Amino acid sequence: MLFAEVIVDISIKSLDRPFQYLVPQEMEGQAVVGAQVVIPFGMGNRQMKGFIIGLSDTPNFDVNKTKRILKVEKQGVVAESHLLSLAYWMKENYGASMNDAIKAVMPVRREIKEKVERFIFPKISMDELAAQRDFFLQKHNVARVRLLNGLLEQESVMEEGLDYDYVVKVLKVSQAVIRGLEERGLILVSSKQLYRNPLENQLQCDSRPLLNQEQQAVVDSFCKKYDSGVRGDYLIHGVTGSGKTEIYMNLIEHVLDQGQQAIVLIPEIALTFQTVNRFYGRFGDKVSIMHSRLSAGERYDQFLRAKRGEIQIMIGPRSALFTPFDRLGLIVMDEEHESSYQSDSMPKYHAREVAVQRGKMLGASVVLGSATPSLEAYYRCEKGEYILYSLKRRAGSAGLPDVQIVDMREELKAKNYSVFSRPLQKMIEQRLAKKEQVILFLNRRGYAGFVSCRLCGEVIQCDSCSVSLKPHEYGGRVTRLKCHYCGAEKPMPSVCPVCGSKYIGTFGLGTQQVEEMVRKRFPGAGVLRMDADTTTGKEGHNQILRAFSEQQADILVGTQMIVKGHDFPNVTLVGVLAADLSLNANHYRASERTFQLLAQAAGRAGRGEKPGDVVFQTYQPEHYSIVSAAREDYLDFYRQELAVRQMLHYPPISNILEVLSFSKEKEKATELSVKLREEIEKEEGIVLLGPNDAPIAKLRDWYRRVMYIKSGDYPLLCRVRNRLEAWLLMQEEYKDCMVTFDMNS
Ligand code: ADP
Ligand code: ZN
Ligand code: ZN
Repeated sequence: MLFAEVIVDISIKSLDRPFQYLVPQEMEGQAVVGAQVVIPFGMGNRQMKGFIIGLSDTPNFDVNKTKRILKVEKQGVVAESHLLSLAYWMKENYGASMNDAIKAVMPVRREIKEKVERFIFPKISMDELAAQRDFFLQKHNVARVRLLNGLLEQESVMEEGLDYDYVVKVLKVSQAVIRGLEERGLILVSSKQLYRNPLENQLQCDSRPLLNQEQQAVVDSFCKKYDSGVRGDYLIHGVTGSGKTEIYMNLIEHVLDQGQQAIVLIPEIALTFQTVNRFYGRFGDKVSIMHSRLSAGERYDQFLRAKRGEIQIMIGPRSALFTPFDRLGLIVMDEEHESSYQSDSMPKYHAREVAVQRGKMLGASVVLGSATPSLEAYYRCEKGEYILYSLKRRAGSAGLPDVQIVDMREELKAKNYSVFSRPLQKMIEQRLAKKEQVILFLNRRGYAGFVSCRLCGEVIQCDSCSVSLKPHEYGGRVTRLKCHYCGAEKPMPSVCPVCGSKYIGTFGLGTQQVEEMVRKRFPGAGVLRMDADTTTGKEGHNQILRAFSEQQADILVGTQMIVKGHDFPNVTLVGVLAADLSLNANHYRASERTFQLLAQAAGRAGRGEKPGDVVFQTYQPEHYSIVSAAREDYLDFYRQELAVRQMLHYPPISNILEVLSFSKEKEKATELSVKLREEIEKEEGIVLLGPNDAPIAKLRDWYRRVMYIKSGDYPLLCRVRNRLEAWLLMQEEYKDCMVTFDMNS
């Protein structure tokens, strides 16, 4: 007789353990480890889904009382056993339930029908499309207008097309109308999938540059080790534009030549058409791509193609890490320092750690790359855990930009109250005269920082969160206040809600106001703005990026999303308006994030033939994050920051576990945090900070208390976390509270 250990697909911590079931004889062939099954569960024998994580021939209980598996899902993917081991490792490391961990590593099929997806692509330019739309509008051809409007509003429609079913079902355009427009040569209906599009022939052209010496040395070293069977973890530290992507592609080629497969992780925000195209250009149909806009079903299909061996390379954000390749030879992780590699839902894993673990389990090498490596990655190189490659020059002809730090206190002394320092103004004028482009970066969206009363000092806050509301401008006036955490909105008050004075105004600067100031100061210039407010819905990133790269505007104003990974050859000036803004964030990584942002921003200038200039405006011109970013001197930054981490016992030297407790009632939140503290103190040798109110003490009406536990002993912290979780399970009175744990994030 065969018995299966089954994890029930239910998010209740107390049920997060394997339950044993009898495998009926006729299912023995299909009931393998990793299979999805249907089982009767609990007193009422409710039918539930689950995953088999182990098999044995000895029963744990009376065989006659052991329940039987009802069905093995044939449609479900069988998780490779190593992915289950990986899930187990994640559960242990990140304190998730096994069920959550399994769900993170394997896609679950939601819909079973295999459908052929069809997309509608424009065959004419967007302008011509708009003209046609106007023409049909005059003739009252409303269905045609609906379709053309749909195309005009769809972001990246040229590359990705508009979903055929959406056009028929939602836009209510008949198939006959679609055929008619196709016959007129205005559109093309194609069943090609995302990114495999009408431009395919063009994409296939592979213009591979001859590697320079630095690049070739990395490729040779890696390949030599790879061929002699050595698998390891590597960090490529190369200044922006040093040709890391070219290296990745060469490494992948080598790995594929040996019959193995590769995963390429790229932060979602850098997963642009431009980047993906480079991989298509080189590898064509061997590549598949994942991104967050894929449905569960589509994600599943991608995984299935990988499993069947139809593709050899998977590109995507952190979840692509779990692509079920069975001959995985290489995991590349570009922009390794990006915070989006940290998962924010359970299990709260970091893709770097999981990549290294998966590489170990499968015998694959891991190559991390960054111009501004995380302290963690570089520290591991120093300790000899990763192999370090450094690229010191930009590939191709471009040199590194000249960076100038401007002390804004001096500007004030000289009575310049503008947000643009005098040097920056002059340089912008020069670029405009030469028809070169400018990027202005400010890491705060909205119109201004906050609204307050000049008389009594009241700062207008969100009702549900303990943060200030951000002013937003509509039609030239601040009319609304928005919470950037929960999305709540209020009208801008005309008098102070506390003292009634009318001296109420905005303070600090946001991207909206910068855009307005640019228009005033440089009236002839074309301006685009890119931030979370201009990129929602249809008016997406790609549209703004494309308009700017086609030089439809001279100046691009934006938040950090403009400094990440985009390549604009005509940009010769980057201005960082408030380089110290992110320094004041209340987090031990604030200096690191500031350095990374500034170095990445500087890397946007002078990517083409023309040399670039960069200006950092700041009130803290001596801060080491700013000084070393200006010199593009990573090592200088690393040494100083590591000393700080050492002194304060922060990662990567030590470990820090954040314990956040939430309640809808203020007193209860406080009470719970005190109880948690008592539990923690039962473990010896713990350094505990708190409990205190969290930096955001109230969020979406939940009161939040925080504690930090630091220790060089990682297993000890895991033990504390497990102890607290076990304790919580027994606490009836805190059932309506929540506690989350974050390790080294
Ligand atoms: P990174 O990923 O380090 O930012 P990329 O691989 O994107 O760098 O390269 C930056 C630019 O330099 C790209 O336009 C790329 O085509 C070009 N490039 C890379 N390697 C070479 C080379 N060996 N010779 C000429 N141009 C190169
Ligand atoms: Zn007031
Ligand atoms: Zn809020």
